[in-house]
Amino acid sequence: MSARLIDGQAIAAAIRDDVRGRAEALRAAHGYTPGLATVLVGDNPASATYVRMKQKACAGLGLRSVPHVLPADARQPEVQRLVEALNADPSIDGILVQLPLPGHLDEESILSAIDLEKDVDGFHPINIGRLAMRNRTPLFIPCTPFGILRLLEETGVTLRGADAVVVGRSNIVGLPAAMVLQKADATVTLCHRHTRHLARHLRHADIVVVAVGQPELVTGDMLKPGAVVIDVGINRKPDASRPNGYRIVGDVDFESARAVAGAITPVPGGVGPMTIAMLMHNTLRAAERHAERQRLATLLPAT
Ligand code: NAD
Repeated sequence: MSARLIDGQAIAAAIRDDVRGRAEALRAAHGYTPGLATVLVGDNPASATYVRMKQKACAGLGLRSVPHVLPADARQPEVQRLVEALNADPSIDGILVQLPLPGHLDEESILSAIDLEKDVDGFHPINIGRLAMRNRTPLFIPCTPFGILRLLEETGVTLRGADAVVVGRSNIVGLPAAMVLQKADATVTLCHRHTRHLARHLRHADIVVVAVGQPELVTGDMLKPGAVVIDVGINRKPDASRPNGYRIVGDVDFESARAVAGAITPVPGGVGPMTIAMLMHNTLRAAERHAERQRLATLLPAT
């Protein structure tokens, strides 16, 4: 058997088209362009690249991006003051604080300072708490887990009652991905670096999500035949045949896994394009909610 490929490029392109159309409608109806503020602290090259990619995505969809860069030694009050100023700015719909922050900063306090209505990364503790709890709905779902959910939905996977194994429990991917899957009524096992028998768990899984940052950790012999495999990993693997000396591989050994799985995401071209597409979706949703609040405000009698 050779697994069906889950085409993240195509699914992300459809999401971007939807955002572009809805942003245009918002502009036509309210003369209003959604705005995303990015906050980058320091000069981590990977973080700077991610922020640039997000700004470029905004430009391609008719959204405004407003970059803010603070020095690597910025103090906590300076970062908090910037977040508070962005909260108060009515031209800003979404605030993205690029993670990881330099170690001297208190990430939780900074994420908690973001206005819930502008928390387009979905990392505010209240949004995460609502994602975790029954009968609660977060305003925004973190972008990579949200992208994973969309990939599964577009693939036609039944989540209710499925056995899902998530490998990796980072705050930005693995843990919220497990929470998203349990909210969709899957039975979720969360594996991590201390898990003793990874293959034993994986072998029973209908759905496998891998986000560990270890090249090709999960191999085909660990999978249940027909499983749906979502590979979040982005790793450089030395490859002398390539001009730059490496190629990008996931956390799943693609060739052995595709021989066993029912469907699988490629790397690149699977989860990667979805993360930014979902950020654009969340920013547009924030702007639509903003426009709706303003419309309602005009209906209220002046006091
Ligand atoms: P992280 O380093 O913060 O967390 C890694 C997790 O994997 C930890 O919970 C750890 O316990 C677990 N782990 C490590 N080794 C393990 C092992 N041998 N067995 C089981 N679990 C193990 O990483 P992260 O930020 O979650 O990123 C994971 C991967 O996903 C990286 O390759 C990263 O580049 C990629 N990533 C991709 C996107 C995207 O948009 N496609 C977004 C974020 C991260």
